[in-house]
Amino acid sequence: MRADETLLDAVFAKRDDIIQLTQELIQIPTLNPPGENYRAICDYLDQRLTKSGFTTQLIRAEGTPGDSDRYPRWNIIARREGAHAGDCVHFNAHTDVVAVGSGWTVDPFAGDLIDGKIYGRGACDMKGGLASAIIAAETFIQLHPAFHGAIEISGTADEESGGYGGVAYLAEQGFFDPTRVQHVIIPEPLNKDRVCLGHRGGWWAEIETYGEIAHGAMPFLGDCAVRHMGAVLEKFESDLFPAMAARRTDMPVVPEGARQSTMNINAIHGGQPEQDDDYTGLPAHCVPDSCRITIDRRFLVEEPLEQVRTEVTELLDTLTQTRPNFTYDLREINSVLPSMTARDAPIAATVAAQIENVMGREAAFVASPGTYDQKHIDRIGRLKNCIAYGPGILDLAHKPDEYIGVDDMLESAVVMAQSLAALLLTPKNT
Ligand SMILES: [Zn+2]
Repeated sequence: MRADETLLDAVFAKRDDIIQLTQELIQIPTLNPPGENYRAICDYLDQRLTKSGFTTQLIRAEGTPGDSDRYPRWNIIARREGAHAGDCVHFNAHTDVVAVGSGWTVDPFAGDLIDGKIYGRGACDMKGGLASAIIAAETFIQLHPAFHGAIEISGTADEESGGYGGVAYLAEQGFFDPTRVQHVIIPEPLNKDRVCLGHRGGWWAEIETYGEIAHGAMPFLGDCAVRHMGAVLEKFESDLFPAMAARRTDMPVVPEGARQSTMNINAIHGGQPEQDDDYTGLPAHCVPDSCRITIDRRFLVEEPLEQVRTEVTELLDTLTQTRPNFTYDLREINSVLPSMTARDAPIAATVAAQIENVMGREAAFVASPGTYDQKHIDRIGRLKNCIAYGPGILDLAHKPDEYIGVDDMLESAVVMAQSLAALLLTPKNT
């Protein structure tokens, strides 16, 4: 199948529409934290998609982290039934954006159009992708109203803070049950010619070492918790980091450096609390009786979570046996399992084929170093046929002067619309 000229022309005729849609989405500042304007963006999407013949449901993820009457976690799911039985293709976009930060040269919530690019917080991550999905679905439905199956579009909260008030909640309610939805595309900004199959896992923990407080002039009367933590870090350097670096994955993770196990030490603190910068007093002299680090361990689909855990605890237990007075606590903060859709899964193969048709070159398969909402669709929803595909350059996400290219959005929308045609113009085939 070559690029369908009618579909392509129909999408490109909506240039003004996709620009306005993206600008209006950016103009609703859905900052997370704290989770502002979720209801407003759901109402906006509700109006738009109802007009396009979708049936909508607004769902508040009550009781999830951050949900309150001041900052309610609102989500929207819109569904449009076709004329015949068939598969359901679901586009899922998170509506939240991260903090603005400094260094902007444009208004982050104006959605300025400059030289074919729309600027703003969330332009590429991922309101541009959401706009592409909406234009793709609307155009496909206009040209093929008697399609098979159903199309769903969801706008969900809190992806940037773990997705518990968004996709995780909806998955728990059964919205991603494989009997209801068969294909999922998450239009994260992974570039218009790449199919993202999944992501690495993550394990976050706090480690605390203990000592005994004493006068700093007589440290031998106490026990320094920071030195104990130093021994932990030394062990990480000599044993853990080399072992992780030697482990390679079959996942096509980009950038290349993330194609192995990695660990970041996010934070370290020992001894007295740090004072504010404007504090002019001098510190008291004490041996620290506690030192804490936070670790951020990213792991591969080939590594079981249990192994990731025991690798660290065994190393700490070795120190308990070999280092006098060494005691520690390890508190797990959170964990996310890796997710990896097969290259020949129907949605991955379909979108890859349409990228080739539209762009005239082979699609690249990639995987993400960090996690996104696919984890919840996979683990809670038990739906394996899920990819991320959308316009935009991932490196721009969360940065100042974030933008999305209008042509990129349109080309992505053509790929999405053609994927709908490939999946929904014939009777159910999965
Ligand atoms: Zn995102």
